[in-house]
Amino acid sequence: MHELSIAESLVDIIRQEMEKHGVTTLHKVEVVVGQLTAIVPEALEMSFTALTVDTPLAGAVITTEIRPLTVCCRECKKDFSPAEDDPYLMTCPFCGAEIGHEVLTGRELFISNIVAE
Ligand SMILES: [Zn+2]
Repeated sequence: MHELSIAESLVDIIRQEMEKHGVTTLHKVEVVVGQLTAIVPEALEMSFTALTVDTPLAGAVITTEIRPLTVCCRECKKDFSPAEDDPYLMTCPFCGAEIGHEVLTGRELFISNIVAE
């Protein structure tokens, strides 16, 4: 259940940002999560809602956007998205290389937007 600790961090960051900008009502927060983080959006959204009950952040909408995993092949330097059923070996569809690829996207975890007043 690592979504709960991630939601706690998000709440901390949002509180700091709101304080910095002198706003008190949170309407919406948009979060980008990479496929490799293994975060379940529904679990993250539920954790966030549970943590903000009876706080000034209550009632805010949280949305999660998943960034798919893309890598650059170590051997042929081509970019590709590994097959869903092959997340550990990540076989290159161009040359068949299986390991050592550079991860380009899929590790993201950040707040992309906060709507508050
Ligand atoms: Zn390759």
